[in-house]
Amino acid sequence: MSYLQKTDPELNRIIELEKKRQRETINLIASENYTSKAVLEALGSFLTDKYAEGYPHHRHYGGCENVDEIETLALERLKKLYKADHANVQPHAGAQANMAAYFALLDYGDTVMGMKLAHGGHMTHGDQITFSGRSYHFIHYGVSKETERIDYDEVERLALEHKPKLIVAGASAYPRIIDFERFRSIADKVGAKLMVDMAHIAGLIAVGLHPTPVPYSDVVTSTTHKTLRGPRSAFILCRKELAHEIDHGVFPEMQGGPLVHAIAAKAECFYEALQPSFYDYQKAVLDNALILAMELQRDGLRLVSGGTDNHLILVDLTRTGVTGMDAQEALERVGIVVNRNSIPFDTQSTWTTGGIRLGTPAATTRGLRQTEMKQIAGWILKVINHVGDKIVETQVREEVRHLCGRFPVPSID
Ligand SMILES: *Cc1c(COP(=O)(O)O)cnc(C)c1O
Repeated sequence: MSYLQKTDPELNRIIELEKKRQRETINLIASENYTSKAVLEALGSFLTDKYAEGYPHHRHYGGCENVDEIETLALERLKKLYKADHANVQPHAGAQANMAAYFALLDYGDTVMGMKLAHGGHMTHGDQITFSGRSYHFIHYGVSKETERIDYDEVERLALEHKPKLIVAGASAYPRIIDFERFRSIADKVGAKLMVDMAHIAGLIAVGLHPTPVPYSDVVTSTTHKTLRGPRSAFILCRKELAHEIDHGVFPEMQGGPLVHAIAAKAECFYEALQPSFYDYQKAVLDNALILAMELQRDGLRLVSGGTDNHLILVDLTRTGVTGMDAQEALERVGIVVNRNSIPFDTQSTWTTGGIRLGTPAATTRGLRQTEMKQIAGWILKVINHVGDKIVETQVREEVRHLCGRFPVPSID
């Protein structure tokens, strides 16, 4: 960071503090990861200076011959990775990818089905605080109270009753495999299109450790910075017949010039995801989540749906008497970073919440494995059972710091 140090010490100081924070804490935020140095190099490059509205070989600006090649490379790699007909790598982030997909598939006021935010869905799946809830008539499905898994019979009943034009599948806090084939058959029964938002599980899907939605969906949207371990960005996949609508939905309907540096970083991310070692990484993410879940459960914490099939765990804290907010803050004090999260049928407010969400993608990238997961589970239990106990917190903080010292952060060190 030598340039900033000279030109802007004020900003540089804060960035250095963030570097220290990332080094000295264990990141269990399920939607975060650490990118490779190669991704960062592309992302932090002069490519940001180029305007390239339009698509390869159909641009509104001159000087795009190299940018055309970069975007084409990203598109080819992405289509290969997911065996997709058509791809768009221009959406700036996941919310933008969803917005563009809605523009392509819907008119304002149309009926759409999506998963309830409170049961693990994403805000852009029809929550009233976002454009999606205000622009379209969303009907929400959720999980069953008994199994805490998606209630596919309810999805079907609601679809038959409301005849949506589009059904959206995908979630931000759902620890189980999603049955895309079942969603397709429900969509077919009512003549709806199916859109899958695989933002969280894109990395697992890329290597076949979660069933792929691609053959069953009309459109698939995703972020690139979660399990896929690329830059903070997104993409859309679709059937050939929808290619024009999707591309038009992204540019010019939803956004202007693409972030060429981010597209280059995505090309590198897809390259990394196509390597055999990416399978090993995703397998380790799953193994780590499983061991963390088993350890937490064995020592008395209740997990929503009784466990996990993917990279994340939703802990129901109700029985502990500690809220999600209390747990998040206590864990942060010892250097374990998590996010509080509503659990299905939560009795706490959406601000305080009755649970926490834990994920293993970032910790796994950092090199943590079974031994460390067991240690971390022990620390989490200790802290939650002694919230506010200064002696316990100081001791765990020291142990966390020591562990962090042994595992450099790939994007920093
Ligand atoms: C993270 C996420 C998004 C939004 O991604 P942003 O890049 O934060 O806009 C959309 N959908 C789902 C399911 C997500 O998990």
